[in-house]
Amino acid sequence: MAELSGRVALVTGGGHGIGRAVALALAAEGAAVAITGRNSARLDAVRSEVEARGGRAEAFVCDVVDKQAVRAAFEQTRATLGPVEILVNNAGITASYKFQDTPDETWESILRTNVDGVFYCCKAALPDMIARKWGRIITIASLAGLGGLAYSAAYSASKHAQIGLTRSLALEVARHGVTVNAVCPGWVETEMLETAIEGLVHKTGRSPDEARADLLATTGQTRALTPDDVAAEVLRLARLDGVSTTGQAITLL
Ligand code: NDP
Repeated sequence: MAELSGRVALVTGGGHGIGRAVALALAAEGAAVAITGRNSARLDAVRSEVEARGGRAEAFVCDVVDKQAVRAAFEQTRATLGPVEILVNNAGITASYKFQDTPDETWESILRTNVDGVFYCCKAALPDMIARKWGRIITIASLAGLGGLAYSAAYSASKHAQIGLTRSLALEVARHGVTVNAVCPGWVETEMLETAIEGLVHKTGRSPDEARADLLATTGQTRALTPDDVAAEVLRLARLDGVSTTGQAITLL
């Protein structure tokens, strides 16, 4: 039997990129998956992919900065698939600016999405996890949550906050059988990396290949990770027995 058979998972930002890979991986491992995000066409496409592979999924439009929408997505998941036992906080945004040029609205929007969104989702998930004495919360943070990232102060601050939340919450809920961990990838081959490359090309006149090499050099990577690499680590954390691995920020390069 698949190791997550009978479990219910909710993935934020599950319509593409890393979130899509995580949703497909969890479903392949037997979990019923609620795929959430803002773009319903993309969510429906991933739900169809899961179903075509014999898995079970539902798609719910949910902007993580809207706490009512977050609560509604958890209620809809409970009503259709069951209480959420595995939460993957994947939804995230970034933007690259010199610190002093960062618009206030950009700072606020990144912090709202990457920090408030994780707070709302964890809060919505915990009552059912605690009642069932089993839960797995996994946040896709970033290497930028463990060290600085020039021209991305808002993003790096938000990712540090995710890791602080992870470590603190882990201490509170271990006694309830709930683990809380963060995965901290370097660059991953998604739209986010493509946008970063385009931005560097635009600002510096470098070629796309040079820009890619320069970005990878900031993390010591020789190649970008794939979304499947990140999904494999999420699966490993979701499958672990007991609570011995919790409060961790796990680097992936
Ligand atoms: P993408 O830009 O490809 O995907 C971002 C996802 O977040 C989309 O599914 C998007 O869905 C969702 N999203 C954004 N804002 C919201 C919101 N307010 N409410 C709900 N969903 C939202 O990025 P990645 O797949 O690369 O990123 C996923 C996570 O991985 C992010 O947290 C990112 O910080 C992190 N990460 C990425 C790295 C990389 O190099 N790519 C490296 C390290 C970490 P929709 O538009 O449908 O709402």
